[in-house]
Amino acid sequence: MAETFTPSGRPLWAEIDLDALAYNLRFLKARTGKAQIAAVVKANAYGHGAVGISRFLLEEGVDALAVVSTEEALQLRRAGITAPILVMGPTPPQDAPHLVELEVIPTIASYEGALALAEAAAQRGKVQPVHLKVDTGLNRFGLPPNEAVALAQAIRQMASLRLEGLFTHFASAEEGDKDYTIDQFRHFMNVCLQIPWVNLRHVANTATIIDMPELCLEMARPGLGLYGYLPPGMAASLDLRPVLSLKARLMRIIDVPAGQTVSYGRTWQAQRPSRVGLVPCGYADGLPRALSNRGWMLVRGQRAPIVGRICMDMTLIDITHIPHAQVGDEVVIIGRQGEEEVSAEHIAFLCDTIVYEVLSGIGPRVPRVFIKGGQVKAIETFAPAFQQYATTLIPRGRS
Ligand SMILES: *Cc1c(COP(=O)(O)O)cnc(C)c1O
Repeated sequence: MAETFTPSGRPLWAEIDLDALAYNLRFLKARTGKAQIAAVVKANAYGHGAVGISRFLLEEGVDALAVVSTEEALQLRRAGITAPILVMGPTPPQDAPHLVELEVIPTIASYEGALALAEAAAQRGKVQPVHLKVDTGLNRFGLPPNEAVALAQAIRQMASLRLEGLFTHFASAEEGDKDYTIDQFRHFMNVCLQIPWVNLRHVANTATIIDMPELCLEMARPGLGLYGYLPPGMAASLDLRPVLSLKARLMRIIDVPAGQTVSYGRTWQAQRPSRVGLVPCGYADGLPRALSNRGWMLVRGQRAPIVGRICMDMTLIDITHIPHAQVGDEVVIIGRQGEEEVSAEHIAFLCDTIVYEVLSGIGPRVPRVFIKGGQVKAIETFAPAFQQYATTLIPRGRS
């Protein structure tokens, strides 16, 4: 069934620039020095497509992958990825057998969790590697320092668990004032001193790698920086390269007489006879509805303002001033076209949010097209049959 199904097609896709990803990895690695890299690919690799991103980063030499949930680890294992996967999030004790079977590295943050894993591993005759999460001030998840030491000692007595790593996560590493981060680091190092039999320690997210590379210890956990952005508030001048572009093709051009309104709620009224383009991308695809009547897209190298409310599946743009625009033209929703750029950061700014939310919000309906050296290397879609169609979307000369 799936093989014969030819999607009629919705011309919307995300282009993932693997050369930019490789560049960002090298840029970060120049700072992390000898530390291992656990590339953070949670949330579908921040919206970039977890499997394609993971495969490529492993080819490029990252040491491990880091996700949040058991399901995310399962997705990578099902895709045939055999590399070490750190599951950083809290997982319920009933996930323990699955985590053991997936041969991933779960995070321990409670005695109960440790026991469940020890039991599941013992039943399968395995020794399960784990990392212990210390909460040094994010106050979200992990063990407070004194309990962490006690649990590490308890795990040492469990034959089916091997405590391989210790980690913590910073609350505000991106802020100019580093006092709190340094405090957190001190608490963490104090815990480590009391658990000297574990020698894999990690604390560094992107902000730490950039601002305090000396804290990278034996492993770093970059996420956002790999995808070409810095956490909000950090000087954006650093030379990272955005990896993702979100693109579509104009599906329809509508002549709107002066005085008419477009889209739900009639929030935009044509002040002159207007030409409005229909773009097959809506809030269900990750285009924040807050951009209604605020953001813009790029058509033929020019800005085309978003007019009226963004719908679930579609958005309208004013192209009256771009008279040569035609159905089928490429529309850039995030990325560059000619001299113009719509950055995910600017979208975040307009929506009063952070670039993490914009990127990770790009929805599952959007095919991810991985491009390397101008060639399509892989396509990730939620329906395999869609791959063939997605290939036809890429501009000639790139496919
Ligand atoms: C998401 C996450 C990271 C990566 O953070 P970035 O700011 O994207 O680099 C690192 N560690 C943990 C525990 C995380 O949850």
